[in-house]
Amino acid sequence: MKRSQRISVAVFLSLIVSVGCESASSNQSRKPNIVILATGGTIAGAGATGTQSAYTSGAVTIDAMVDAVPGVKDLANIKGEQVANVGSQDMSFDIMLKVAKRINELLPKKDVDGIVVTHGTDTMEETAYFLNLVVKSDKPVVLVGSMRPSTAVSADGPLNLYNAIGVAVDPKSRGLGVLVVMNDWIHAAHSLTKTSTTDVQTFMSPLRGLVGIAAYGHNDYYNAPPWKHTTKSEFDVSNVTKLPRVDIVFGCADMSPDLIDASVNNGAKGIVIAGVGNGNMNKASLDAAERAAKKGVVVVRSSRVALGTVGRNVEVKDDDMGFVASDELNPQKSRILLSLALLKPRQVSQIQDLFYSY
Ligand code: GLU
Repeated sequence: MKRSQRISVAVFLSLIVSVGCESASSNQSRKPNIVILATGGTIAGAGATGTQSAYTSGAVTIDAMVDAVPGVKDLANIKGEQVANVGSQDMSFDIMLKVAKRINELLPKKDVDGIVVTHGTDTMEETAYFLNLVVKSDKPVVLVGSMRPSTAVSADGPLNLYNAIGVAVDPKSRGLGVLVVMNDWIHAAHSLTKTSTTDVQTFMSPLRGLVGIAAYGHNDYYNAPPWKHTTKSEFDVSNVTKLPRVDIVFGCADMSPDLIDASVNNGAKGIVIAGVGNGNMNKASLDAAERAAKKGVVVVRSSRVALGTVGRNVEVKDDDMGFVASDELNPQKSRILLSLALLKPRQVSQIQDLFYSY
């Protein structure tokens, strides 16, 4: 090899090395950008001592929440916005719409890679499912909360927040719809439900199982949720300021039909029955529900039972009575889907199809 050729090979090799180094270092410096939208809840709650269960929700700022999580700033550049500050028993459609619209403003931006929503656990499954239907992006949206306030001994919020951010920055979370990360488990919005009033291990996805496991920023993914969501969803709330009223009526032995009539008389456009067993109710309530359906109020039969589906025409003649069966959705998520479905005129059969698809 001539000397000039040797030089050009050396230059070429050094170029490869320097380009390689440059891309490695620029990858390292390109930390993902995550926006935390805070809504309150126990994760931002503070008690007077570390061992009392009484606390005030939403007492801690986003910065203080993030500062309590060692190492989280290595995972992402984090910005925070306080969208609301409520215990999630006070979560409203107004706040859900505000959160959804803000997410739909933020996610199209090149410098936003994912969203984490901090939220109380009481109604987290409802907000997660709502966002799952109305967010218009494949980028990760992750809800997180805690069961113990920030001041408690062994507060669960800091690790939950670390794991939520770890899931939000993970490219494998894209396209899975809205996720919930609590106590190391990654749930799909469609399937999770709160199962314990006080235990740290409260959220379960009993019918479909977990999307995956989160462990200190390393995640394993097992299942992709099979339902339509986010970019495949037909629901659009960009111009919506109010959702139609949908009530839930709880079923029980010797149930009174009066609550069904009261819902109709007070302007409900839809009623979800948290029925007994396979979405059942007694004869008097079936009659009241049929009267409601005849007036154009959409009646969905769901169940107060924690596990299983509600099927059409099993013990109730849905075809004759004009009812919808909730399939896998529990009453509180049925209410979310029905409220969105009622934003435009739809046949009962079309609403039934929505319950099979979303
Ligand atoms: N009621 C509170 C809430 O949902 C308690 C539940 C929690 O955040 O863990 O905001």
